[in-house]
Amino acid sequence: MTWDKFASRLIHNGDGRFQLKLSASASLPETFPVYLTSVFAFEDAEAVDDIYEKRAGGYLYSRLGSPNADAAAAILAAAEGSEDALVFSSGMAAITTAILSLVRAGDHLVSSPVLYGGVHDFFVNELKRFGVEVSFTGPGREEVAGLARPSTRLIYTEMISNPLMEVPDLGRLAGEARRLGIPLVVDNTFATPAVARALDLGADLAVYSATKYLGGHSDILAGAVTGSREKLDGVRRLGKLYGNGLGAVDSWLLARSLRTLDLRVGRHSENGLKIALFLESHPKVEKVFYPGLASSPSHPVAARQFLGGRFGGMLSFNLRGGEKEARGLIRALAGIPFVPSLAGAATTLSYSIKASHRFYSPEELAAAGVTAGQLRLSVGLEDAGDIIAVLEEGLGRI
Ligand SMILES: *Cc1c(COP(=O)(O)O)cnc(C)c1O
Repeated sequence: MTWDKFASRLIHNGDGRFQLKLSASASLPETFPVYLTSVFAFEDAEAVDDIYEKRAGGYLYSRLGSPNADAAAAILAAAEGSEDALVFSSGMAAITTAILSLVRAGDHLVSSPVLYGGVHDFFVNELKRFGVEVSFTGPGREEVAGLARPSTRLIYTEMISNPLMEVPDLGRLAGEARRLGIPLVVDNTFATPAVARALDLGADLAVYSATKYLGGHSDILAGAVTGSREKLDGVRRLGKLYGNGLGAVDSWLLARSLRTLDLRVGRHSENGLKIALFLESHPKVEKVFYPGLASSPSHPVAARQFLGGRFGGMLSFNLRGGEKEARGLIRALAGIPFVPSLAGAATTLSYSIKASHRFYSPEELAAAGVTAGQLRLSVGLEDAGDIIAVLEEGLGRI
C-alpha cells in the first residue's frame, strides 16, 4: 500500500471501494443507501467503454444518471404502471424539459388556459423566445380541433386545475391527440397515481411537481416525468444536457415518501371529501370547488377517471362577502397556516388571488374564475373532525 502518509491515509480509506467489500458480504441494507458521489471509479478504460456502449450497467457521472434518482424513479414508474420515469430538481425542471424535448422553432402547441403560474409564464413568455407558439383552448378545454395546425406538436393539460379543481375529459383529449398523431402531456400533480393514472387514460407523458403529494412532507423540491422508454428518451437526453436531475439526498427523501403515497393520498382524499361537505353546508360559504362533490360540474368525469372513489385533498371555496372575509378567515384560522404551496402533511390555506394567481390581470382572473373571496385549502392528514372544528371556529369569528 503506497498511500501510507497521514494525509493520504485519510483520503484512501473507506472510499467507494468499501462498497465492493459490502457487496460481497452476506447481508444487504434493508433500505437503499444514499449515494453521495458525483462520479464513479473504474478498474480500467475498457470498463468505461462497456458502460458507454451499453455492454455493462453502471454509472459514470451523476449528471448523466445516478443511483438514488433511478431508485426514486423506479418506485414512481411502478406506481404509475409506466415503463420508465425520470426525476428532476423541481416540477418546473421536469415540465420545461419534457416540453422542450417535443418542440423546435416554428412549432405550436395547444394547452388548457388554466395552468400552474410558472408553466403559464413558460408557455407565454419563454417558448416565444424559441419561436414556439401556444394556443389556449376555451373554457370547455377539450376543444382542440379548431386550434390545431400542421405545426402542432403536443396537447397539454392539468389533470385537476387550480384553483377551481376542474377535471378535463382525458379520453376526449387523448382522442384528439391520437387523431393529430401528437402526444398528450398531462400534469398529474394534484391527483398523483394514487388518484388517477394519466397514462392509462391516454396521456403519452405524465409530468409532476413531486414537491407536492409525491414528496408530501413540504421538505423537498422535486419533479418527475413518466411514460414509455421511447417517449422519455428525448427528455432524458435534455435532462443530461441541462443538468437538472434530482440530487441524491432529495431523491432518497422522495423514494421514502413514495412508500406511503397510497396511504397518504387515501387519507388526503377521505379528509378532502369530508371538509368539502362541511364547507358546502356552512352558511358563510357560498360555493365549494371539489370534484368529489355532486355539485361539481367535473364530478361525472372525475368519478369516471379517478380510482378508488378518491378525489384528492385540494379544494377551494368562495366565502359570502369578499376580500374582507377572506383576509379575516386567514387571520382567524390560527391552527391552519397560510402557505402558498400545497400537499404537505398539515392542512394549509392559500389565497389564490395573492399567491398562485398573483400576476394574473383582472381579465385573466375572471377567465380563471379566481375571486377576492376565494380561499384554497390543502387538506392534510390530521383527524378530519379536528380540521372541521378549527374551520368551524375560524368561520365563527368572521
Ligand atoms: C407546484 C406545481 C408546479 C411546479 O412545481 P415546482 O416543484 O414548484 O417547480 C407545476 N404544476 C403544478 C400543478 C404545481 O402545483
